Amino acid sequence: MIALTDIEMSFGDLAVLKSVSLRIAEGSVTALIGPSGSGKSTLLRCVNLLEIPQAGELVIGGDRVEFVPGKRPERDAILRVRRQTGMVFQNFQLFPHRTALGNVMESLVTVLKWPEGKARARSLELLDKVGLAHKADAWPAQLSGGQQQRVAIARALAPAPKVLLCDEPTSALDPELAVEVVEVIAQLAREGTTMLMATHDLRLTANIAHEVAFLDGGHILETGPARALFAAPVQERTRQFISTLL
Ligand code: ADP
Ligand code: MG
Repeated sequence: MIALTDIEMSFGDLAVLKSVSLRIAEGSVTALIGPSGSGKSTLLRCVNLLEIPQAGELVIGGDRVEFVPGKRPERDAILRVRRQTGMVFQNFQLFPHRTALGNVMESLVTVLKWPEGKARARSLELLDKVGLAHKADAWPAQLSGGQQQRVAIARALAPAPKVLLCDEPTSALDPELAVEVVEVIAQLAREGTTMLMATHDLRLTANIAHEVAFLDGGHILETGPARALFAAPVQERTRQFISTLL
């Protein structure tokens, strides 16, 4: 349902993604692991076209975008892809001047032009799903990090994206607060939410992810079912990296 093929992404002279291909099945959870600087965040940003690769192809839902050096895809194509993705960031990035409910409603009202009442009802449902219906009127600054991240997840899910992209969703949180975010992600996985997450959190990679992709120096060195890849990686380099996580 999501396919990246031969993606090349450079910043000036710095080649960050080198012929990256990745397939993500509907309803599956893929963990992207790899050392700092290996290109995990850049890869996530290429899926929602926050970065525009120089070469390769992205297929998401019914949309197919081809990347050609020096040519930006059409604005409509970019917007269609963005609407099919939701992004959760390491540092939550809630709108500080909106309540929890306001954060979740924002894209429904401003981008999708939903009537206020309908947007409110859906947003309350989503806050309930992440266990925060009682915090609907709280400001981000009044919420713990774990609560802020759960609001961020509800916000990302509001427009019913085809894939939820998470960039190190638990790494800014104390272990105890991370647990509540892990539980929400586990629940979404059980419900069949398609997710691609860059993370080193073993609760996410080893327990929740179905597939793992190991990115090293801008190359995907190895992909495979999470259990198999953790138990018996094929590449020595993968084994070495995984041993640093355990
Ligand atoms: P990771 O998330 O795996 O730590 P990133 O995708 O953030 O890796 O970064 C990969 C490489 O790309 C790093 O060398 C980083 O410095 C570089 N990079 C990322 N974003 C930019 C940017 N906007 N401009 C220039 N270089 C960037
Ligand atoms: Mg990163």
